[in-house]
Amino acid sequence: MQDIIKNLPKLAKDKHNENKKFFARLKKKPPKNLDYIMQELHDDEFERTDCLECANCCKTTGPLFTDKDIERISKHFKQKPQQFINQYLRVDEDNDYVLQTVPCTFLGTDNYCSIYEVRPKACREFPHTDRKKFQQISNLTLKNVAMCPAAFNIVENMKKRIK
Ligand code: SF4
Ligand code: SF4
Repeated sequence: MQDIIKNLPKLAKDKHNENKKFFARLKKKPPKNLDYIMQELHDDEFERTDCLECANCCKTTGPLFTDKDIERISKHFKQKPQQFINQYLRVDEDNDYVLQTVPCTFLGTDNYCSIYEVRPKACREFPHTDRKKFQQISNLTLKNVAMCPAAFNIVENMKKRIK
């Protein structure tokens, strides 16, 4: 897995133009059953990919924390939301709460998330490949394929399946 992660930025760069064209076409004319296709591709990929062998998303980017996330996680730590914010978060250039440091402070050396049950919504949904109307997040996906091996494979399989 480490070799795959190491080579991913280069592989994604090589595919970037092809992917960009594919998503431009997809946006114009998404297949009627796109949600169904994505669910299938997503489920197949995550049967093969073990996130515990990877954790590259937790190591290289952090999630956004919504107010609900902050409420839930601070409660878990028996902290006031503001205490949690002061200890772990900062406001980024888009005015969102993000982690002060990456790799994520809640990631263990065994790649387990120490707040898994209460983790942010963005972590639960990453890499968003099973969301509805997937064509709407093509710019984000174009970036994610350089960091997430599962997202990379899913996009490669999409291109084979949707002509
Ligand atoms: S979601 Fe992607 S980047 Fe994150 S651990 Fe799983 S395969 Fe790796
Ligand atoms: S909160 Fe958990 S799942 Fe989210 S980035 Fe941190 S370690 Fe990963």
